[in-house]
Amino acid sequence: MQMLALVLILINIGAIAGPVVGVAIVYRDNLSELVIPPEINQLIEETAVAGSQIQLPQLVNYTYNPVAKTVTAVANFTNPFNLNVTINSLTADVVCNEHSLTLGHARMANPVDLDKDETAYITTVFVWTTDAENHFLTQHLTESNISISLKNIVVDISGITVEAPASYNIGTIPIPVV
Ligand SMILES: [Zn+2]
Repeated sequence: MQMLALVLILINIGAIAGPVVGVAIVYRDNLSELVIPPEINQLIEETAVAGSQIQLPQLVNYTYNPVAKTVTAVANFTNPFNLNVTINSLTADVVCNEHSLTLGHARMANPVDLDKDETAYITTVFVWTTDAENHFLTQHLTESNISISLKNIVVDISGITVEAPASYNIGTIPIPVV
């Protein structure tokens, strides 16, 4: 949750600062460990309050493709700021919480422009590995759901790259029928 708040703060900053190319921010467990360029740091302090009333992305639906080994998840997200932003990319590893096993990789299907007050659909594709398939069959055979986390999240918002090596529990999803 804290990660999301940070990202949304950075959306705000990116929109204010305009194109900030090549800025990489490494996020660990708390804000005090952030490695932030000084010019961004001040902007974070000035805009942090703006991130306090934010509607989280809402999952709309997801579809499985057993042949391609993919889950395509669609969420809608309303830009909470009075500014236009672009989410250029988002990638993450998908991890089984129970066994700490990496199941595959997720990435946003395409860049999303979010004008102020606009709601957009964000499509993310998760590709699971053959190892994940074996894992479902050997460790989760009798279960219909699996609890997962996103790890090593990298998101590029309006030219600002945020890296978050820590794990973020995003709840359970149905296990793909393989
Ligand atoms: Zn597992």
